[in-house]
Amino acid sequence: MKRYSVFAVAREALRHHTGWERAWRSPEPKKKYDAIIVGAGGHGLATAYYLGVNHGIRNVAILEKGWLGGGNTGRNTTIIRSNYLQDPSAAIYEKARSLYETMSQDLNMNVMFSPRGLIMLAQTHHEVRGYQRTAHANSLQGVETQFISREKVKELVPIINLDGPRYPVLGGLLQKRGGTARHDAVAWGYARACSAMGMDVIQKCEVTGVRTEGGKVVGVSTNKGDIDCDKLGMVVAGHTSVLAEMAGFRLPIESVALQALVSEPIKPGMDVVVMANTVHGYMSQSDKGEMVIGGGTDGFNNYTQRGSFHHIEETVRALNETFPMISRLKMLRQWGGIVDMTGDRSPILSKTPVDGIFVNCGWGTGGFKAIPGSGWAMAELMAKGHSPLTEEFNMYRFREGKFIDESVAAGVAH
Ligand SMILES: Cc1cc2nc3c(=O)[nH]c(=O)nc-3n(C[C@H](O)[C@H](O)[C@H](O)COP(=O)(O)OP(=O)(O)OC[C@H]3O[C@@H](n4cnc5c(N)ncnc54)[C@H](O)[C@@H]3O)c2cc1C
Repeated sequence: MKRYSVFAVAREALRHHTGWERAWRSPEPKKKYDAIIVGAGGHGLATAYYLGVNHGIRNVAILEKGWLGGGNTGRNTTIIRSNYLQDPSAAIYEKARSLYETMSQDLNMNVMFSPRGLIMLAQTHHEVRGYQRTAHANSLQGVETQFISREKVKELVPIINLDGPRYPVLGGLLQKRGGTARHDAVAWGYARACSAMGMDVIQKCEVTGVRTEGGKVVGVSTNKGDIDCDKLGMVVAGHTSVLAEMAGFRLPIESVALQALVSEPIKPGMDVVVMANTVHGYMSQSDKGEMVIGGGTDGFNNYTQRGSFHHIEETVRALNETFPMISRLKMLRQWGGIVDMTGDRSPILSKTPVDGIFVNCGWGTGGFKAIPGSGWAMAELMAKGHSPLTEEFNMYRFREGKFIDESVAAGVAH
């Protein structure tokens, strides 16, 4: 793999960009791999990457039914934070956030990580207490957050309206090293690094069946034929229940549409990410100048990547009262993705009833931020059979009642 660098850009500029090589190969599948990962979203690609880098397992294929990053990884609003309440969540999200800090250097791909700061607005007394509690929990967990006053919110976000018609802003939970990154670049960076290690990233390869013998996985059936493997990682977000059914087990996952929209580009106006969970909407400004806006999930299960119209209206209404200046903006486009929701709003990283099959899902509305940490932990689980970061996220917690309740931190936002 030729390294990307300022010298490479200068060299290619001189020779009219004729020397760039393809970022990853497009191979045909081999007969057998040590491990197959289904799903070339961020979590699947990161799992494969850390299998290679941390555990030396490189005879790996990543199978993707569409194009890589074409699922939720390329559809999200790119918010990164680790201000969760429960210890297991803070551990895995903070691991991920810290890996984002050096991801561009580690992958030799500029993922445009921008730790510009993130504020979750407190707009009721209940929220004030909730976020103060989270700030205390975070300080014990080693996650740097602080509860700030409404005056400080205004200082950081001059375009905000502190006294909206429904809920005044009473303060906010600030994570200074939270922010955003370029979602496609995260997928591309991992794919390029996996391909450079000799792994096969195979697009347009849909898994249509899971083959088992005597309770153990032996391979998958795909539209490109049968492929054998010793270990199988299912990392398919909203399609997890479909894959699990192929392997003969069920998971407590609901698949629902979540949508986002962006405005026309404007001059820089807001250099932090702001989330308003009570009125329900959140917003950041992209490097292109567009205001990136996210809302809530549909209230019913579905597999359409669009989302219902009333959510657009509700989200824009919520943000209009929080940032009145956006009422004069035109919206450029809207899109949706299918997110995988668990009952306690925490992910599942787990062994399954089938020997050799592992599952990584349930990241719901907030898994982009977790990609590197999740890949790191899932790779350890697949390589060694256990990982300190995944222990409490096993699928059997729902049977045993050991929930990791993140409904406040994750249930209504990202
Ligand atoms: C509108 C929206 C906004 C969001 N905003 C944020 C945010 O701001 N911050 C945040 O942290 N998170 C956010 N999220 C959530 C985040 O995008 C997801 O949690 C994360 O991207 C999930 O990544 P993944 O790799 O698990 O899944 P995906 O990226 O969806 O990848 C799964 C892949 O599996 C493939 N696949 C499915 N079935 C098969 C099959 N049978 N065979 C082969 N391949 C298959 C799919 O094609 C897909 O590419 C948002 C999501 C949406 C939809």
